[in-house]
Amino acid sequence: MIPSKASAQDYHSENLCTWCDGCGNYGIHSAIKRALIELGLKPYQVLLCFDVGCHGNMSDKLLGYRFHGLHGRVISLASGAALANPDVPVIALSGDGGCFSEGIGHLVHAMRSNYNMTFILHNNSNYGLTTGQASALTPRGEQMNTSPLGTVEDPLNSMDFIFSLNPTFVARGFSGNIRQLTDIIKAAVNHQGFSYVDILQGCPTYNKFATHEYLLGKCYDVKDANHDTSDFNQARKIATDTSEKISTGVLYQAKGIPHFLERLEARKGVETRLVDEVSEINMEDYFKKFM
Ligand code: SF4
Repeated sequence: MIPSKASAQDYHSENLCTWCDGCGNYGIHSAIKRALIELGLKPYQVLLCFDVGCHGNMSDKLLGYRFHGLHGRVISLASGAALANPDVPVIALSGDGGCFSEGIGHLVHAMRSNYNMTFILHNNSNYGLTTGQASALTPRGEQMNTSPLGTVEDPLNSMDFIFSLNPTFVARGFSGNIRQLTDIIKAAVNHQGFSYVDILQGCPTYNKFATHEYLLGKCYDVKDANHDTSDFNQARKIATDTSEKISTGVLYQAKGIPHFLERLEARKGVETRLVDEVSEINMEDYFKKFM
């Protein structure tokens, strides 16, 4: 029997979204759902892994296989899932606090390993869930809840950092452009290797410096500028230079680079998946020794 097409109803959850009015997470939630439907994936055919943060409240607002892990650890658990069963696409989501502070080591090693998975950054330049503290991406001088006189640290240049890790896929979107975001997420899921998707997200409650209106005025689609996504140096330039305008869309893609599992000699020619090779072991007798 041919399974019916994926639909919005398949992903529908009775749980209501509880983000603040005007939060960019609403747009990202819609784009992820649309992308999965347009990719023809049913909820049981894709794994979504969430970090801790405002974005993490999406974990029970989309039906299907969902994992809501510890703060800053989403990339490590998602990459484990991607290695265990490469037949199920894996999408990991995190805020900029979880990714560029607590979890930055996981990001570095997942990118250099080129694990076959998609990473979506909900980039609102602050810790929204814990009420507006500065993150590693908050611009210097901004008055945040734990720095009322203004932050004193320089922000991490996240895009320059990402390009220093020899990425195979880099994109940037904006939570206010759902159609473009949908296409970006579809391209990221279809990419073979680690896909990095930075979504500039409005946070009207705590981010007063990069508002929805500000981003709307600054963002442009690189498709309109005939950008060549295979040009690493040009992509890095337009990704990091945001002084006049902010480039959005797929900025860089290197096709045909083997991902981690494809590089492992020991897995070449193996038909089974790691998830099939795990055996059930009864540890009861072993643990009795310590009782
Ligand atoms: Fe959204 Fe910011 Fe409210 Fe969190 S604090 S739900 S990111 S608007």
